Amino acid sequence: MTRVLLTGGSGFIAAHVLDILLKRGHSVVTTVRSQQKADKIKEAHPTYGKDKLDFAIVEDIAKEDAFEEAVKSDPPFEAVIHTASPFHFNVTDPIKDLINPAVIGTTGVLKSVKKHAPTVKKVVITSSFAAIVNPSKGNWPEHTYSEADWNPATLEDAHKDTTSAYRVSKTLAEKSAWDFVEKENPNFKVSTINPPMVYGEVVHYLNSLDALNTSNQRIRDAILGKWKEEIPPTGGFCWVDVRDVALAHVKAMELPAADQKRFFVTAGAYSNREMVEVIRKHFPEYQDKLPGPDVTSGGYPEEGSFKVDNSRSRTILGIEYIPFEKSIVDTVKSLKAVGA
Ligand code: NDP
Repeated sequence: MTRVLLTGGSGFIAAHVLDILLKRGHSVVTTVRSQQKADKIKEAHPTYGKDKLDFAIVEDIAKEDAFEEAVKSDPPFEAVIHTASPFHFNVTDPIKDLINPAVIGTTGVLKSVKKHAPTVKKVVITSSFAAIVNPSKGNWPEHTYSEADWNPATLEDAHKDTTSAYRVSKTLAEKSAWDFVEKENPNFKVSTINPPMVYGEVVHYLNSLDALNTSNQRIRDAILGKWKEEIPPTGGFCWVDVRDVALAHVKAMELPAADQKRFFVTAGAYSNREMVEVIRKHFPEYQDKLPGPDVTSGGYPEEGSFKVDNSRSRTILGIEYIPFEKSIVDTVKSLKAVGA
């Protein structure tokens, strides 16, 4: 049993991380922005007492010293899983809205752990394929992405468009974590989890489909009929199920073999067109919302796309990836429960 601080407990991925931590017997304090969010998480886990599930309020991770109090605990923490970071495209100022919470949030939690939580031996950070991909290479069919790749983006790229700004936020946040490890030589080890587009069941509190997390919005849009005339371009042709992402975080926390490593957690290739076909096959009730046979967009590029190497996550973390069809079916079922 490990005493864990989980940041951003109200999020799509964090809710699955929390479920797995609790099921595996760990004791968790999770940070949320408000007491109301804490209450919703508590309601979803009625059988766990305060010793197993507790909360700390951290209103804004972009504030220096945001985690100064949250990292203190009795009994003391042994591990931290840092998932909190903005993933949305409602951006007016890329620095304020995305870069600062990502970078200051990451360095802030590391600094506070070093200062106040000497018992912490491991920090797992949710990074992203955004910190791996090289956007200037396009589909790059001759390339295989792995943990060896780094997005070469710099702060200047944050001003190009919102997608670039998000990618810069994740790249700079992860770099700042590895820089911290190198320069500060802390008492703890670090692992990063780098997923591409994450799909899967919504288990966190969601009061409406409008508040759905960014990555699942594609599936929502398809079943609400927004793709009827055109299936949008897929973008990065790789994906992963949220349960695998969550398990990777917990395994990285538990296994010393994961120390000081990045993990590119991906189940492989997919296209938006394949997503539509899975929904068509399993959900007759959405037939008239889906694009007809005349709509030919949303598939793979003719030239092909990059390949992915997920061998490190399979070998060290033991992840056996959930197939695309199952992931999409489970996601749609969970969206129906919220009113889709
Ligand atoms: P969510 O939007 O569901 O979760 C984001 C979490 O971060 C929420 O708990 C949110 O709190 C919290 N947060 C954001 N900004 C702040 C802030 N300024 N102060 C305090 N808390 C903040 O998205 P995901 O679950 O998808 O994302 C979780 C992590 O996974 C992020 O680091 C994201 O970059 C990463 N990721 C996600 C991928 C995906 O496809 N979903 C792919 C690759 C990486 P609140 O709910 O209160 O807003």
